[in-house]
Amino acid sequence: MVDAKLTDVRKTFNDGQVVAIDDIDLHIEDGELLVLVGPSGCGKSTTMRCIAGLETPNGGTIEFGGHEVTNLPPKDREVSMVFQNYALYPSMTVYENMAFGLKMRGADRETIDEQVRWAAETMEIGDLLDRYPTQLSGGQQQRVALGRAIVRDPAIFLLDEPLSNLDAKLRAVMRTEIQELQQELDVAAVFVTHDQEEAMSMGDRIAVMNAGRIEQVAPPEEIYHDPNSLFVADFIGSPAINFFECSLTGTTIDHDVFSFDLPDSIAEPLAAGLDGDQVVIGIRPEDLGITDPGQGLFDTRVEVIEPMGDRKIVYMDVGDRRMEAVVPSNAAVEEGDDIGVSVNWPNSHFFSPSGPKVLK
Ligand code: ATP
Repeated sequence: MVDAKLTDVRKTFNDGQVVAIDDIDLHIEDGELLVLVGPSGCGKSTTMRCIAGLETPNGGTIEFGGHEVTNLPPKDREVSMVFQNYALYPSMTVYENMAFGLKMRGADRETIDEQVRWAAETMEIGDLLDRYPTQLSGGQQQRVALGRAIVRDPAIFLLDEPLSNLDAKLRAVMRTEIQELQQELDVAAVFVTHDQEEAMSMGDRIAVMNAGRIEQVAPPEEIYHDPNSLFVADFIGSPAINFFECSLTGTTIDHDVFSFDLPDSIAEPLAAGLDGDQVVIGIRPEDLGITDPGQGLFDTRVEVIEPMGDRKIVYMDVGDRRMEAVVPSNAAVEEGDDIGVSVNWPNSHFFSPSGPKVLK
Protein backbone atom coordinates (compact mmCIF):
# COMPACT_ATOMS: atom_id res chain seq x y z
CA MET A 1 0.00 0.00 0.00
CA VAL A 2 1.38 3.36 -1.06
CA ASP A 3 0.19 6.94 -0.80
CA ALA A 4 1.25 9.82 -3.05
CA LYS A 5 2.14 13.25 -1.78
CA LEU A 6 2.67 16.36 -3.88
CA THR A 7 4.24 19.32 -2.11
CA ASP A 8 4.50 22.77 -3.73
CA VAL A 9 4.53 21.19 -7.18
CA ARG A 10 4.90 23.68 -9.98
CA LYS A 11 5.00 23.12 -13.73
CA THR A 12 5.41 25.85 -16.31
CA PHE A 13 5.72 25.73 -20.10
CA ASN A 14 7.09 28.14 -22.72
CA ASP A 15 9.88 29.54 -20.52
CA GLY A 16 7.55 30.16 -17.63
CA GLN A 17 4.90 32.01 -19.63
CA VAL A 18 2.30 29.27 -19.12
CA VAL A 19 1.83 28.25 -15.49
CA ALA A 20 0.07 24.90 -15.84
CA ILE A 21 0.24 24.01 -12.13
CA ASP A 22 0.91 26.64 -9.54
CA ASP A 23 2.53 25.31 -6.35
CA ILE A 24 -0.03 22.66 -5.50
CA ASP A 25 -0.19 20.42 -2.44
CA LEU A 26 -2.14 17.19 -2.82
CA HIS A 27 -2.16 14.02 -0.72
CA ILE A 28 -3.65 10.89 -2.27
CA GLU A 29 -4.16 8.43 0.55
CA ASP A 30 -3.64 4.66 0.53
CA GLY A 31 -6.57 2.92 -1.08
CA GLU A 32 -8.61 6.01 -1.89
CA LEU A 33 -10.16 7.08 -5.17
CA LEU A 34 -9.46 10.78 -5.51
CA VAL A 35 -11.20 12.58 -8.35
CA LEU A 36 -9.46 15.60 -9.83
CA VAL A 37 -12.07 17.82 -11.45
CA GLY A 38 -11.97 21.24 -13.08
CA PRO A 39 -12.59 23.09 -16.33
CA SER A 40 -10.57 22.55 -19.49
CA GLY A 41 -7.01 23.86 -19.20
CA CYS A 42 -6.95 24.09 -15.38
CA GLY A 43 -3.96 21.72 -15.13
CA LYS A 44 -5.48 18.29 -14.45
CA SER A 45 -3.53 16.36 -17.09
CA THR A 46 -0.30 18.12 -16.24
CA THR A 47 -0.75 17.12 -12.58
CA MET A 48 -1.28 13.49 -13.65
CA ARG A 49 1.70 13.57 -15.99
CA CYS A 50 3.90 14.86 -13.15
CA ILE A 51 2.70 12.03 -10.87
CA ALA A 52 3.37 9.50 -13.65
CA GLY A 53 6.81 10.94 -14.39
CA LEU A 54 5.90 12.01 -17.94
CA GLU A 55 6.64 15.64 -16.97
CA THR A 56 9.30 16.90 -14.59
CA PRO A 57 8.08 19.65 -12.25
CA ASN A 58 9.94 22.99 -12.17
CA GLY A 59 9.59 23.00 -8.41
CA GLY A 60 8.31 20.99 -5.48
CA THR A 61 8.47 17.31 -4.60
CA ILE A 62 6.48 14.16 -5.28
CA GLU A 63 6.69 11.23 -2.88
CA PHE A 64 5.26 7.71 -3.10
CA GLY A 65 5.01 5.92 0.22
CA GLY A 66 7.42 8.43 1.77
CA HIS A 67 10.10 8.00 -0.95
CA GLU A 68 10.83 10.91 -3.23
CA VAL A 69 10.21 10.11 -6.91
CA THR A 70 10.18 13.67 -8.34
CA ASN A 71 12.94 13.00 -10.87
CA LEU A 72 12.49 9.28 -11.46
CA PRO A 73 11.51 8.18 -14.99
CA PRO A 74 8.05 6.57 -15.41
CA LYS A 75 9.45 3.03 -15.65
CA ASP A 76 10.95 3.32 -12.17
CA ARG A 77 7.65 4.38 -10.57
CA GLU A 78 4.99 1.87 -9.66
CA VAL A 79 2.37 3.79 -11.59
CA SER A 80 -0.07 2.81 -14.31
CA MET A 81 -1.93 5.37 -16.35
CA VAL A 82 -5.01 5.01 -18.53
CA PHE A 83 -5.65 7.78 -21.03
CA GLN A 84 -8.71 9.17 -22.76
CA ASN A 85 -7.78 7.61 -26.10
CA TYR A 86 -7.11 4.04 -25.14
CA ALA A 87 -3.77 4.02 -26.99
CA LEU A 88 -3.85 0.31 -27.74
CA TYR A 89 -1.31 -0.90 -30.29
CA PRO A 90 -3.39 -1.70 -33.40
CA SER A 91 -1.00 -4.33 -34.76
CA MET A 92 -1.02 -6.36 -31.53
CA THR A 93 -3.70 -8.68 -30.20
CA VAL A 94 -5.38 -7.95 -26.89
CA TYR A 95 -3.05 -10.45 -25.22
CA GLU A 96 0.04 -8.83 -26.74
CA ASN A 97 -1.19 -5.36 -25.82
CA MET A 98 -1.64 -6.45 -22.23
CA ALA A 99 1.68 -8.30 -22.11
CA PHE A 100 3.72 -5.48 -23.65
CA GLY A 101 4.58 -3.54 -20.47
CA LEU A 102 5.74 -6.63 -18.59
CA LYS A 103 7.76 -7.82 -21.60
CA MET A 104 9.55 -4.46 -21.77
CA ARG A 105 10.44 -4.83 -18.11
CA GLY A 106 11.98 -8.21 -18.83
CA ALA A 107 9.42 -10.36 -17.01
CA ASP A 108 9.58 -14.08 -17.81
CA ARG A 109 6.97 -15.76 -20.01
CA GLU A 110 5.25 -17.58 -17.18
CA THR A 111 4.83 -14.43 -15.05
CA ILE A 112 3.53 -12.52 -18.05
CA ASP A 113 0.99 -15.22 -18.86
CA GLU A 114 -0.18 -15.47 -15.27
CA GLN A 115 -0.56 -11.68 -14.90
CA VAL A 116 -2.29 -11.17 -18.26
CA ARG A 117 -4.79 -13.94 -17.54
CA TRP A 118 -5.48 -12.58 -14.05
CA ALA A 119 -6.08 -9.05 -15.46
CA ALA A 120 -8.22 -10.42 -18.30
CA GLU A 121 -10.34 -12.35 -15.83
CA THR A 122 -10.68 -9.29 -13.57
CA MET A 123 -11.85 -7.18 -16.51
CA GLU A 124 -13.97 -10.02 -17.97
CA ILE A 125 -12.20 -9.94 -21.33
CA GLY A 126 -10.78 -13.47 -21.25
CA ASP A 127 -12.59 -14.38 -24.47
CA LEU A 128 -11.14 -11.40 -26.37
CA LEU A 129 -7.44 -12.14 -25.95
CA ASP A 130 -6.86 -13.16 -29.59
CA ARG A 131 -8.68 -10.20 -31.12
CA TYR A 132 -7.14 -7.01 -32.50
CA PRO A 133 -8.25 -3.58 -31.17
CA THR A 134 -10.20 -2.75 -34.36
CA GLN A 135 -12.33 -5.84 -33.72
CA LEU A 136 -13.52 -4.49 -30.35
CA SER A 137 -16.30 -2.10 -29.29
CA GLY A 138 -15.42 1.13 -27.48
CA GLY A 139 -16.34 -0.38 -24.12
CA GLN A 140 -14.26 -3.50 -24.79
CA GLN A 141 -11.27 -1.37 -25.83
CA GLN A 142 -11.59 0.58 -22.61
CA ARG A 143 -11.67 -2.66 -20.61
CA VAL A 144 -8.51 -3.82 -22.40
CA ALA A 145 -6.82 -0.49 -21.62
CA LEU A 146 -7.75 -0.90 -17.95
CA GLY A 147 -6.62 -4.53 -18.03
CA ARG A 148 -3.30 -3.50 -19.54
CA ALA A 149 -2.86 -0.93 -16.78
CA ILE A 150 -3.54 -3.35 -13.92
CA VAL A 151 -1.30 -6.09 -15.35
CA ARG A 152 1.63 -4.18 -13.93
CA ASP A 153 0.13 -4.44 -10.44
CA PRO A 154 0.59 -0.72 -9.88
CA ALA A 155 0.92 0.93 -6.50
CA ILE A 156 -0.78 4.02 -7.89
CA PHE A 157 -3.40 4.00 -10.58
CA LEU A 158 -3.95 7.10 -12.74
CA LEU A 159 -7.00 7.47 -14.98
CA ASP A 160 -7.13 10.57 -17.20
CA GLU A 161 -10.67 11.05 -18.57
CA PRO A 162 -10.82 7.33 -19.41
CA LEU A 163 -14.55 7.36 -20.16
CA SER A 164 -14.92 10.41 -22.38
CA ASN A 165 -15.11 8.43 -25.63
CA LEU A 166 -17.98 6.27 -24.41
CA ASP A 167 -21.72 6.88 -24.70
CA ALA A 168 -23.70 7.92 -21.62
CA LYS A 169 -25.00 4.44 -20.77
CA LEU A 170 -21.63 2.72 -21.08
CA ARG A 171 -19.99 5.51 -19.10
CA ALA A 172 -22.35 4.84 -16.22
CA VAL A 173 -21.51 1.11 -16.31
CA MET A 174 -17.76 1.73 -16.54
CA ARG A 175 -17.86 4.23 -13.64
CA THR A 176 -19.14 1.50 -11.37
CA GLU A 177 -16.65 -1.00 -12.78
CA ILE A 178 -13.75 1.34 -12.14
CA GLN A 179 -14.90 1.96 -8.58
CA GLU A 180 -15.18 -1.78 -7.98
CA LEU A 181 -11.82 -2.43 -9.62
CA GLN A 182 -10.14 0.24 -7.52
CA GLN A 183 -11.60 -1.23 -4.32
CA GLU A 184 -10.53 -4.72 -5.34
CA LEU A 185 -6.98 -3.61 -6.15
CA ASP A 186 -6.98 -1.52 -2.96
CA VAL A 187 -4.56 1.04 -4.43
CA ALA A 188 -4.42 4.81 -4.39
CA ALA A 189 -6.11 6.03 -7.57
CA VAL A 190 -6.56 9.42 -9.21
CA PHE A 191 -9.39 9.82 -11.70
CA VAL A 192 -9.50 12.97 -13.84
CA THR A 193 -12.70 14.36 -15.28
CA HIS A 194 -14.13 17.74 -16.22
CA ASP A 195 -17.61 16.40 -15.48
CA GLN A 196 -18.72 17.43 -11.98
CA GLU A 197 -21.49 14.83 -11.86
CA GLU A 198 -18.99 12.07 -12.64
CA ALA A 199 -16.73 13.47 -9.91
CA MET A 200 -19.56 13.54 -7.37
CA SER A 201 -20.63 9.98 -8.13
CA MET A 202 -17.17 8.39 -8.08
CA GLY A 203 -14.82 10.10 -5.66
CA ASP A 204 -14.05 9.13 -2.08
CA ARG A 205 -12.71 12.66 -2.11
CA ILE A 206 -12.80 15.35 -4.78
CA ALA A 207 -10.06 17.86 -5.55
CA VAL A 208 -11.46 20.86 -7.43
CA MET A 209 -8.86 22.57 -9.60
CA ASN A 210 -9.01 26.05 -11.09
CA ALA A 211 -6.32 27.88 -13.07
CA GLY A 212 -3.44 25.70 -11.90
CA ARG A 213 -4.47 25.67 -8.25
CA ILE A 214 -6.36 23.27 -6.01
CA GLU A 215 -9.36 25.16 -4.63
CA GLN A 216 -10.71 22.49 -2.26
CA VAL A 217 -10.16 18.82 -1.41
CA ALA A 218 -12.99 17.11 0.49
CA PRO A 219 -15.57 14.30 0.29
CA PRO A 220 -18.35 14.93 -2.28
CA GLU A 221 -21.02 15.92 0.29
CA GLU A 222 -18.71 18.49 1.86
CA ILE A 223 -17.76 19.96 -1.52
CA TYR A 224 -21.48 20.32 -2.31
CA HIS A 225 -22.78 21.52 1.06
CA ASP A 226 -19.76 23.49 2.22
CA PRO A 227 -17.91 24.88 -0.82
CA ASN A 228 -15.01 27.06 0.28
CA SER A 229 -15.04 29.45 -2.67
CA LEU A 230 -17.30 31.02 -5.28
CA PHE A 231 -15.57 28.90 -7.90
CA VAL A 232 -16.25 25.57 -6.17
CA ALA A 233 -19.85 26.57 -5.35
CA ASP A 234 -20.44 27.47 -8.99
CA PHE A 235 -18.60 24.52 -10.57
CA ILE A 236 -20.21 21.79 -8.47
CA GLY A 237 -23.97 21.21 -8.64
CA SER A 238 -26.55 20.93 -11.40
CA PRO A 239 -28.62 23.04 -11.79
CA ALA A 240 -26.01 25.54 -10.65
CA ILE A 241 -26.10 27.50 -7.41
CA ASN A 242 -27.80 30.94 -7.46
CA PHE A 243 -25.65 33.96 -6.60
CA PHE A 244 -27.17 37.13 -5.13
CA GLU A 245 -24.85 40.15 -5.27
CA CYS A 246 -25.56 42.21 -2.16
CA SER A 247 -24.07 44.87 0.11
CA LEU A 248 -23.84 44.85 3.89
CA THR A 249 -24.51 48.07 5.83
CA GLY A 250 -24.49 47.59 9.58
CA THR A 251 -26.65 44.51 9.98
CA THR A 252 -28.66 45.08 6.79
CA ILE A 253 -28.21 43.05 3.59
CA ASP A 254 -29.34 44.97 0.49
CA HIS A 255 -30.00 43.45 -2.92
CA ASP A 256 -31.63 45.12 -5.95
CA VAL A 257 -34.93 43.40 -5.20
CA PHE A 258 -34.87 42.70 -1.45
CA SER A 259 -33.31 43.66 1.83
CA PHE A 260 -33.32 42.10 5.27
CA ASP A 261 -31.61 42.31 8.64
CA LEU A 262 -29.10 39.77 9.88
CA PRO A 263 -28.72 38.90 13.56
CA ASP A 264 -25.63 40.56 15.13
CA SER A 265 -24.09 37.12 15.60
CA ILE A 266 -23.91 36.74 11.80
CA ALA A 267 -23.49 40.37 10.69
CA GLU A 268 -20.40 41.00 12.82
CA PRO A 269 -18.22 38.09 11.68
CA LEU A 270 -19.45 38.66 8.13
CA ALA A 271 -18.38 42.33 8.15
CA ALA A 272 -15.04 41.34 9.68
CA GLY A 273 -14.38 38.79 6.92
CA LEU A 274 -15.23 41.03 3.96
CA ASP A 275 -12.77 43.40 2.28
CA GLY A 276 -15.44 46.03 1.66
CA ASP A 277 -19.20 46.09 1.97
CA GLN A 278 -19.95 43.79 -1.01
CA VAL A 279 -21.00 40.20 -0.37
CA VAL A 280 -22.20 37.40 -2.65
CA ILE A 281 -24.81 35.08 -1.17
CA GLY A 282 -24.97 31.61 -2.71
CA ILE A 283 -28.17 29.58 -2.44
CA ARG A 284 -28.61 26.16 -4.01
CA PRO A 285 -31.75 25.72 -6.17
CA GLU A 286 -33.28 23.26 -3.68
CA ASP A 287 -32.95 25.90 -0.93
CA LEU A 288 -35.27 28.32 -2.73
CA GLY A 289 -38.97 27.68 -2.03
CA ILE A 290 -42.07 28.87 -3.86
CA THR A 291 -44.82 30.59 -1.84
CA ASP A 292 -47.63 33.06 -2.48
CA PRO A 293 -46.72 36.63 -3.50
CA GLY A 294 -45.88 38.76 -0.46
CA GLN A 295 -45.06 35.68 1.65
CA GLY A 296 -41.39 35.19 0.76
CA LEU A 297 -38.21 37.26 0.66
CA PHE A 298 -39.16 38.76 -2.71
CA ASP A 299 -41.77 38.42 -5.46
CA THR A 300 -41.20 37.48 -9.08
CA ARG A 301 -42.83 35.58 -11.92
CA VAL A 302 -42.21 32.05 -13.21
CA GLU A 303 -40.59 32.29 -16.65
CA VAL A 304 -40.11 28.62 -17.53
CA ILE A 305 -40.68 25.25 -15.89
CA GLU A 306 -38.55 22.26 -16.82
CA PRO A 307 -39.88 18.86 -15.68
CA MET A 308 -37.16 16.48 -14.43
CA GLY A 309 -39.20 13.40 -13.46
CA ASP A 310 -39.62 13.54 -9.68
CA ARG A 311 -38.63 17.23 -9.53
CA LYS A 312 -39.02 20.29 -11.67
CA ILE A 313 -36.82 23.31 -12.23
CA VAL A 314 -38.52 26.69 -11.90
CA TYR A 315 -36.74 29.50 -13.80
CA MET A 316 -37.34 33.07 -12.66
CA ASP A 317 -35.71 36.48 -13.07
CA VAL A 318 -34.36 38.27 -10.01
CA GLY A 319 -33.03 41.71 -10.93
CA ASP A 320 -30.99 41.11 -14.07
CA ARG A 321 -30.17 37.50 -13.20
CA ARG A 322 -31.93 34.26 -14.12
CA MET A 323 -32.36 32.10 -11.00
CA GLU A 324 -33.42 28.51 -10.61
CA ALA A 325 -35.40 26.72 -7.92
CA VAL A 326 -35.85 22.95 -7.72
CA VAL A 327 -39.22 21.86 -6.34
CA PRO A 328 -41.11 18.53 -6.16
CA SER A 329 -42.88 17.67 -9.42
CA ASN A 330 -46.29 17.96 -7.73
CA ALA A 331 -45.67 21.53 -6.46
CA ALA A 332 -48.56 23.78 -7.56
CA VAL A 333 -46.68 26.20 -9.78
CA GLU A 334 -47.15 27.03 -13.48
CA GLU A 335 -45.34 29.10 -16.08
CA GLY A 336 -46.44 32.75 -15.83
CA ASP A 337 -47.48 32.49 -12.15
CA ASP A 338 -46.73 35.42 -9.85
CA ILE A 339 -44.92 33.91 -6.86
CA GLY A 340 -43.12 34.71 -3.65
CA VAL A 341 -39.71 33.13 -3.11
CA SER A 342 -38.52 31.95 0.30
CA VAL A 343 -35.00 31.00 1.30
CA ASN A 344 -33.73 28.19 3.51
CA TRP A 345 -31.20 30.47 5.23
CA PRO A 346 -29.30 27.88 7.27
CA ASN A 347 -28.06 26.43 3.95
CA SER A 348 -26.93 29.76 2.44
CA HIS A 349 -23.28 30.61 1.78
CA PHE A 350 -21.62 34.02 2.13
CA PHE A 351 -18.68 34.74 -0.17
CA SER A 352 -16.35 37.67 -0.67
CA PRO A 353 -16.68 38.90 -4.30
CA SER A 354 -12.96 38.04 -4.68
CA GLY A 355 -13.79 34.35 -4.15
CA PRO A 356 -13.29 32.93 -0.65
CA LYS A 357 -16.13 31.88 1.58
CA VAL A 358 -16.50 34.30 4.49
CA LEU A 359 -18.96 32.55 6.76
CA LYS A 360 -19.86 28.88 7.14
P1 ATP B 1 -8.34 19.46 -20.43
O1 ATP B 1 -9.49 19.15 -19.53
O2 ATP B 1 -8.74 20.36 -21.56
O3 ATP B 1 -7.56 18.26 -20.85
P2 ATP B 1 -6.43 20.08 -18.31
O4 ATP B 1 -7.09 20.60 -17.08
O5 ATP B 1 -6.01 18.68 -18.33
O6 ATP B 1 -7.32 20.41 -19.58
P3 ATP B 1 -3.66 20.68 -18.94
O7 ATP B 1 -3.65 19.84 -20.16
O8 ATP B 1 -2.94 20.19 -17.74
O9 ATP B 1 -5.17 21.04 -18.54
O10 ATP B 1 -3.10 22.11 -19.34
C1 ATP B 1 -2.90 23.15 -18.38
C2 ATP B 1 -2.34 24.37 -19.10
O11 ATP B 1 -1.01 24.08 -19.54
C3 ATP B 1 -3.13 24.79 -20.33
O12 ATP B 1 -3.09 26.19 -20.42
C4 ATP B 1 -2.34 24.16 -21.47
O13 ATP B 1 -2.50 24.89 -22.66
C5 ATP B 1 -0.92 24.24 -20.95
N1 ATP B 1 -0.05 23.17 -21.45
C6 ATP B 1 -0.19 21.84 -21.22
N2 ATP B 1 0.81 21.15 -21.82
C7 ATP B 1 1.57 22.05 -22.48
C8 ATP B 1 2.76 21.96 -23.28
N3 ATP B 1 3.35 20.78 -23.52
N4 ATP B 1 3.27 23.11 -23.76
C9 ATP B 1 2.70 24.30 -23.49
N5 ATP B 1 1.59 24.46 -22.74
C10 ATP B 1 1.03 23.35 -22.23
